[in-house]
Amino acid sequence: MGFGIAPISVETDRFHELGAIKEKNAMSYSGLRVIREALNGQRGWKPAWRNPEPKPNYDIIVIGGGGHGLATAHYLVTKYGEKSIAVVEKGWIGSGNAGRNTTIVRGDYTLPPNTRFYDHSVGLWEKMERELNFNVMHSQRGVLFLHHNDAERDDHYRKTNIMRMQGTDGEILGPEKLRKMYPSMNFDGRFPITGAYLHRRGGTARHDAVVWGYARSADRRGVDILQNCEVTGFRIEQGKVLGIETTHGFIGAKKVGVSVAGNTSRVMDMAGIRTPIESHVLQAFVSEGLKPIIPGQVNYGAGHFYISQSDKGGLVMGGDLDKYNSCAQRGNLPVFESVIEAAVTLFPMLSRARLLRAWGGLQDMTMDGHAVIDETPIKGLYLNGGWCYGGFKATPAAGECFAHLLSTEQPHELAKPYRLDRFRTGYLLDEKGQGPNPNRQ
Ligand SMILES: Cc1cc2nc3c(=O)[nH]c(=O)nc-3n(C[C@H](O)[C@H](O)[C@H](O)COP(=O)(O)OP(=O)(O)OC[C@H]3O[C@@H](n4cnc5c(N)ncnc54)[C@H](O)[C@@H]3O)c2cc1C
Repeated sequence: MGFGIAPISVETDRFHELGAIKEKNAMSYSGLRVIREALNGQRGWKPAWRNPEPKPNYDIIVIGGGGHGLATAHYLVTKYGEKSIAVVEKGWIGSGNAGRNTTIVRGDYTLPPNTRFYDHSVGLWEKMERELNFNVMHSQRGVLFLHHNDAERDDHYRKTNIMRMQGTDGEILGPEKLRKMYPSMNFDGRFPITGAYLHRRGGTARHDAVVWGYARSADRRGVDILQNCEVTGFRIEQGKVLGIETTHGFIGAKKVGVSVAGNTSRVMDMAGIRTPIESHVLQAFVSEGLKPIIPGQVNYGAGHFYISQSDKGGLVMGGDLDKYNSCAQRGNLPVFESVIEAAVTLFPMLSRARLLRAWGGLQDMTMDGHAVIDETPIKGLYLNGGWCYGGFKATPAAGECFAHLLSTEQPHELAKPYRLDRFRTGYLLDEKGQGPNPNRQ
C-alpha cells in the first residue's frame, strides 16, 4: 500500500460542510506517520476500508467496484453531498479492468468534446493524490507516438496543432532528440523511425492504487463497499427501478448506476436493455524487472504496440484486441506473438528479456470508440460504460460526470456528447474515422 504526502485537510473540511458521515479515527497518511509506524513495529495501521453487511435500502447504488464505480461514489459524497450510497462488486474491488490495464493516462484526443473531457480528466489526475491523501504513483513521464513515414508525420503535426489550439500540450520531436531520449530504440529497422509526437502531460499511474485510493476515500465518508456481492437482476415496476437482486438478496435503491465495463451488455440485458456495446478481450504483458531503459510511454507507429516501464522495472506492454467477441478474461497466442514481435523490433535487446506475466481484461467496445454516460429508458437506472481502450485515463472525470448525473439527474456539461442516442442520430464521436468497427479502434 502506498502512502500520501499530504495530511487530509481541505477535503475533510468540505465533507464536514456537506454533512457526510465521518468515521472516527479515520487514518490519514503522511511522512510523519510512516516514521512513527516504523518506530512502533508497524502495529498502528488500520484497514483502509470496512467490509459492511448490505443495508436493506440506499438512495444510490453503484454497480461495479472498479475505478469508475468507486470514483463515482467518492464524488457523490465529496461534491454532491449524497449520504446513502453503496458500491456493489461481484468479486473484490479492482478485480476487473481497473487492476488489469496498462496504466496509461493521457489527454490528447482531437475531437473537441473528447479533448475537453480528457483534458479535464488529466487535470483531475494532477490533483488526485492530494485529494485522496493516497499515493497513486501518477507519473507524467510523457507519452510518445512514433512516426515512420510522411503521412504519419503530417498526421502528428495536425494533432499537435489541434492540441495547442485547444489549450493542451503536444509537440513534435525529430530523430536527433529522440535518439538522445531512447538510445536503445532501433531507429533503422524495417520501418525506420523519423520522429514522434510527444504529449508531456501524459504518463502512467499505479492502477490498483487508484482503486484503493477512491475506495478508502468513499468508505471513510460512509459509503458501503459490498464486495463478493454479484448483481443477478433488477426489480423494475412500471418503468422504474426499485432496487437490485444480488447473491446477498434484494437491496432497494432510489437510483442505480451501472458501471461494470466489460460486463455492460450482460448487466444491461438483465434490465431488458440492449446496448451498442460489445465485449472483447484485451491482453497485457509484463517482463521481468529490468534496470531503467524506457523513460516514458512509447507507442509504435508501424503496428499496434505500446510499452512503458513500471517503477519496479517490469516492462508493461500491450497491443490489439483479440479480434473476436468474448467474455473470458484471458487471451490467445496471435496477439501475444504480435506484441512480442513489435517489442523486439523496436527494442532488439528485449529478445533476451523474460516475460513474467500476461493476462486478459474485458473491454466494453462501442461502435464509435467512445463512452456512454447517460440515463436509460428505465427511470432511476443510469449507465456509465463503453470506455474501450480509454477508461483508465478517464477514471476521475467519468466518476465526476456519472456522480453529477446520478445526483442531479442532468448530464454533466462535459458528458453531453456521450449520450446513448448518438448511435440512433448518427452524431458519433469517431475519433479515428473508422466507422462502427470495434476491432479497428
Ligand atoms: C489489458 C487492458 C489494458 C488497458 N490499458 C488501458 C490504458 O493503458 N489506459 C486506459 O485509459 N485504459 C486502459 N484500459 C481500459 C480501462 O482499464 C477500462 O476502460 C476501465 O478500467 C473501465 O472502468 P472500471 O475501472 O470501472 O472497470 P472495471 O475495473 O472492469 O470495473 C467493473 C467492475 O464491475 C464488476 N461487475 C461486473 N458485473 C457485475 C455484476 N453483475 N455485479 C456486481 N459487479 C459486477 C466487475 O467485477 C468489475 O470489478 C485497458 C483495459 C485492459 C483490459
